Amino acid sequence: MDDFPKCIKCGSEYTYEVDGIYICPDCAHEWPVHPKEEEEEEEILVVKDAHGNLLQEGDSVTVVKDISVKGYANSIKVGVKIKNIHLVKPVNGHNIDVKIKGFGSLLLKSELVKKSS
Ligand SMILES: [Zn+2]
Repeated sequence: MDDFPKCIKCGSEYTYEVDGIYICPDCAHEWPVHPKEEEEEEEILVVKDAHGNLLQEGDSVTVVKDISVKGYANSIKVGVKIKNIHLVKPVNGHNIDVKIKGFGSLLLKSELVKKSS
């Protein structure tokens, strides 16, 4: 004997299963055998530039504000172009991973750059 649960709606014992769904022949109620599992959703990073445009992985951007970097005497100047940005989970508001000549790889806030065309 298959051990199907009673219909969760009408209590009928004549439920059966088809393709992962229990079906009640009495009231036609259907419900999943396995309640929806928490799917590991790929986190979608919403990263916007200084003008609110969405940035995407691999975009090229231009710095719109001087950015001082800890440990460096010089700041990253307005107008510096950055290629191939990498979106990351925000760390203290820093949500893009970039490589800049003279500074190496660092995290920036996306609102300090704008998308280059
Ligand atoms: Zn039923």
